[in-house]
Amino acid sequence: MSSRDHYHFDVVVVGAGHAGVEAALASARLGTKTALLTMSCDTVAQMSCNPAIGGVAKGQIVREIDALGGEMGRVIDATGIQFRMLNSGKGPAMHSPRAQADKKAYQFEMKWKVEQQENLSLRQELVEGIETHHGQVTGIRVAGGTVYHAPAVILTTGTFLKAIMHTGETTSEGGRAGEQSAHGMSGALLNLGFQLQRFKTGTPARINGRTIDFSKCVTQPGDEDPQPFSYLTEQIEQSQMDCHLTETTPEVHALIQANLSRAPMYTGQIESTGPRYCPSIEDKVVRFADKGSHQIFLEPEGRNTLEYYCNGISTSLPRDVQDRMIHLIPGLENADIMRFGYAVEYDFAPPTQLHATMETRRVAGLYFAGQLNGTTGYEEAAGQGLLAGINAALKVAGRDSFVLDRSQAYLGVLIDDLVTKGVDEPYRMFTSRAEYRMLLRQDNADRRLTPLGIDLGTVCHERAKSFRDYEKQVNRARAAITATRYQGNSLEEWLRRPEITWTDAEKMSPELAAMPLSRRCKRHVEVEVQYAGYIRRQEAEIAKLQKVDNVRIPESFNFAGIPQLRYEAREKLGRIRPETVGRASRVSGITPSDIAILMMYLKAGEYSQQPSD
Ligand SMILES: Cc1cc2nc3c(=O)[nH]c(=O)nc-3n(C[C@H](O)[C@H](O)[C@H](O)COP(=O)(O)OP(=O)(O)OC[C@H]3O[C@@H](n4cnc5c(N)ncnc54)[C@H](O)[C@@H]3O)c2cc1C
Repeated sequence: MSSRDHYHFDVVVVGAGHAGVEAALASARLGTKTALLTMSCDTVAQMSCNPAIGGVAKGQIVREIDALGGEMGRVIDATGIQFRMLNSGKGPAMHSPRAQADKKAYQFEMKWKVEQQENLSLRQELVEGIETHHGQVTGIRVAGGTVYHAPAVILTTGTFLKAIMHTGETTSEGGRAGEQSAHGMSGALLNLGFQLQRFKTGTPARINGRTIDFSKCVTQPGDEDPQPFSYLTEQIEQSQMDCHLTETTPEVHALIQANLSRAPMYTGQIESTGPRYCPSIEDKVVRFADKGSHQIFLEPEGRNTLEYYCNGISTSLPRDVQDRMIHLIPGLENADIMRFGYAVEYDFAPPTQLHATMETRRVAGLYFAGQLNGTTGYEEAAGQGLLAGINAALKVAGRDSFVLDRSQAYLGVLIDDLVTKGVDEPYRMFTSRAEYRMLLRQDNADRRLTPLGIDLGTVCHERAKSFRDYEKQVNRARAAITATRYQGNSLEEWLRRPEITWTDAEKMSPELAAMPLSRRCKRHVEVEVQYAGYIRRQEAEIAKLQKVDNVRIPESFNFAGIPQLRYEAREKLGRIRPETVGRASRVSGITPSDIAILMMYLKAGEYSQQPSD
């Protein structure tokens, strides 16, 4: 590589966290010459907080990332130490895979994937500036002044922008314990006219497992039959490790109450908003004052370490209080604290400044993804990274952009929520955010998305072949249950009864039992038959809504020029500038009558005669 080539790329990704690695891999896999620049090559895909991937709604996102050719699912399958299907006793829309990760093994595996990827260069650099020309990004500047040139740049800087960590009264600069803060970037973004706001998040203490009395805890094993995340993983081969459960006590709560005056969240030292659904222990004790205890999951951080993560007691209390608190917890009386908990405050960029492609409205070719957009969670970050990487590569190649809608994927819900509604607290995914969750199941993400990945070119040959083979298998299974009859009814009719399972159907037909069908295929067809009524209803609803939803609003549309629109609607729509009528309808405070007026103008094409803003 000549020295000129060394600094000239099609796409530059800044930050190799969960968003950055997926962005860079997707871009490179689309044949785009890509650089991944990050503060330290030793922290690629580091889990800043809990050593786990997936969970409710997040597990579905990992499956979707996998179905589109992303890497998170394969890496956790290879390095996970405990696998569980959450909510398996509930309906199929709620089933959510989750795995404990071997934190270091996960990082090494992901770094290995990045290093092996053709068209991708991983470099250790601290990025300090963004280069633009006439509203178009042209590259970035790193510490020392060197410029990397590229027509597309994706920022995935996580919790590192002007980051301040808090433990009690003590504060220090850094996006993660032991790491630095990124200063230049906030200023660079403000100079380009972006708005920034502040959020906070926190993490609990880690303790040495040798000093835990597990006999006082409840053991929590993994599933006997662990299910992989990736559609390409046949089976989880490795052994599983146990987690353990303990809980806080009234003594712990009394100690926290007595020390609230030293908790940065309550002294006013931290003013920014944190994740409401993932509160610190001091927050739980205050908000749920009538509860006598809160659960604590003791989660191993890996196979080759005795470090345990105390899930449930994230805190920014001072060290001496954390010390006393930990030792009041059953099983942790003699625990040796390896790392204390802390909170971190950081800048994020309100995501209403983005198009649905993740490209910023203000600077062409500049994309934002991950926690920088006000989200929280590895999975949400990885999903955004994947979509930003795909879109940046498509744009550089002059191809059409790729946007998923709310009926296709949780990823569609995520991006739509971010760009239309914005965030007033760190955003995480919940199943309740998706209108069509019966369609967006973890078991069918490949059938929803892999064909799109094949068309785009993000999916490798192996995945495309495996998907086509699976489709054939599903079609054979469906044909067999439609054609085979038992006591006057088809097997499909039998399977529609909630009490009849695939195993029952196999007993009714030896031919069906003899068919070489995978367990996944049987379960998949069983679910689709049993829930066919719901699925049809949701599909009909989508078809009806899509007619209006997908009507595009021209970029130059002058909302202020519609006198019939209420002032609030004119102001909000003018500020957020939704790209479709569907997005406009989801902006908070917009009413059906606002949409009816908007539709009238769009249909009549009056917008073209309006004076522009
Ligand atoms: C203390 C703490 C507690 C957390 N608690 C939770 C929690 O309870 N639940 C939860 O879901 N999530 C939690 N998170 C958030 C979770 O870690 C993030 O959601 C996720 O890691 C975001 O991924 P990302 O890729 O956007 O950013 P990150 O994983 O933060 O990665 C950002 C990357 O960018 C690099 N970088 C930043 N700036 C620059 C620069 N200028 N130049 C070069 N490289 C740069 C960094 O080195 C890093 O590698 C917590 C994070 C922290 C730090």
